[in-house]
Amino acid sequence: MINRKRIRYLKEGEIRKGPIIYWMSRDQRVNDNWALVHAIEMAQDNDKECIVIFTLVSDFLGATLRQYDFMIKGLQKLENRLSRLNIPFIVLLGDPLRSVPAFIESTKAGCLITDFDPLKIKRKWKEEVGRQIVIPIHEVDAHNIIPCWLASDKEEYAAYTFRPKIRKLLPDFLDEFPPLTPMPSKRHAEGNNWDAIIASLHISRSVKPVEWMKPGENAARITLEHFLSEKLTNYSSLRNNPAMNVTSGLSAYLHFGHIAAQRIALEVIRGHPRDNNTDAFLEELIVRRELSDNFCFYNPNYDSISGIRPWASQTLDQHRHDKRDYVYTTDQFERALTHDDLWNTAQLEMIKTGRMHSYMRMYWAKKILEWSNSPEDALRTAIYLNDKYELDGRDPNGYTGCMWSIGGIHDRPWTERKIFGKIRFMNRKGCERKFDVNKYITAVNQFV
Ligand SMILES: Cc1cc2nc3c(=O)[nH]c(=O)nc-3n(C[C@H](O)[C@H](O)[C@H](O)COP(=O)(O)OP(=O)(O)OC[C@H]3O[C@@H](n4cnc5c(N)ncnc54)[C@H](O)[C@@H]3O)c2cc1C
Repeated sequence: MINRKRIRYLKEGEIRKGPIIYWMSRDQRVNDNWALVHAIEMAQDNDKECIVIFTLVSDFLGATLRQYDFMIKGLQKLENRLSRLNIPFIVLLGDPLRSVPAFIESTKAGCLITDFDPLKIKRKWKEEVGRQIVIPIHEVDAHNIIPCWLASDKEEYAAYTFRPKIRKLLPDFLDEFPPLTPMPSKRHAEGNNWDAIIASLHISRSVKPVEWMKPGENAARITLEHFLSEKLTNYSSLRNNPAMNVTSGLSAYLHFGHIAAQRIALEVIRGHPRDNNTDAFLEELIVRRELSDNFCFYNPNYDSISGIRPWASQTLDQHRHDKRDYVYTTDQFERALTHDDLWNTAQLEMIKTGRMHSYMRMYWAKKILEWSNSPEDALRTAIYLNDKYELDGRDPNGYTGCMWSIGGIHDRPWTERKIFGKIRFMNRKGCERKFDVNKYITAVNQFV
């Protein structure tokens, strides 16, 4: 049974007679999904039908064919899995503010359940849908191990302020998921016409889908198992080495919800003795990831320079007019036309594969700050490129990562220097000390 603390009641009201609707959005999976667990439990306890809906919109926060292709293929697999549980899966096209209330009315739904997402657009959708419908809305945090609103009631300053709160609450929430029992009767479900759905989307087709990474719950699970058996033992010492690919590669699966962070954490803890590697990995997976959600949940300016801390804003302002040795336009950045072959390689890695190594992401964004006319331009360019090319883009981790690199979010002041002021600086020499830069450049060039 679901821990009721995972549920927030966005709208109170009387549950009507009709079906329980799960408006799936961020957590696109059947297994290990607390929002689906709650929907099925409610439906079975009250002898109601359970229906899962998904609202597919064109032009979502700059997503391109690359991300739509990955997501839609994942949704097709999800439809099959849900049908094995006798749960219809219905894709609604167009504006969710119209399609969700209309669907609720046409089915005379009893209650709307949805998954949690701190991004502004999703919160606005839910608020406005809530105004138009009369039934209750339950929001379940199926993405974080500890529900975001419980982990902390304010924007956290840094990982060190957040970590103790997470540690305290983790034992209450790191529980096993219950098995799902199929719904009793199979309602005739038409199935979605995927060709028509894909044809109807008005999206940028300029960025090609990736072939090397397969979407869906099975593929996510295989990636996890490979990481646990082959890479975890080197995670602590080599995770910041882009020439050695030892990180999990799970971020796109986590972003689309093809795998639960809670499942990953359970597998790591149960199957591996606690050591530097498991500690370092769980720090990223739990503390850093959930800290990003905390930042976006409590800071409405999570994607703007106005969202940074006063010390960072002050120092960047003091260095606003410093002479830049190089200034590039967004277009030059996008086409990897800088003077630095290391930066260009990272940019090409992202363009071609939809993924840039974690360490290079920091270097990449910091150099955009150094080579842009202003911090505002730098942040705009970094978010634009990240969201256009990364498979895991448009994620709280992405906004927070860009804000960390350019605006010092969750970081502290460092030694003052040109352009950066007290924002942490990174340079190529530092990369050369840390890893074999040529090996990384050669490896990427062979792949792309
Ligand atoms: C400029 C910049 C942009 C970024 N853009 C994104 C983005 O669009 N989407 C995205 O998911 N992450 C982003 N990150 C965070 C991080 O770089 C990626 O999550 C990581 O590279 C994903 O690779 P992995 O799954 O192999 O990570 P692993 O090292 O295997 O870590 C496991 C998981 O922990 C989480 N995690 C790891 N590092 C971080 C971090 N620094 N902050 C928060 N969570 C983390 C991720 O969910 C990741 O999948 C960005 C970071 C920076 C500096």
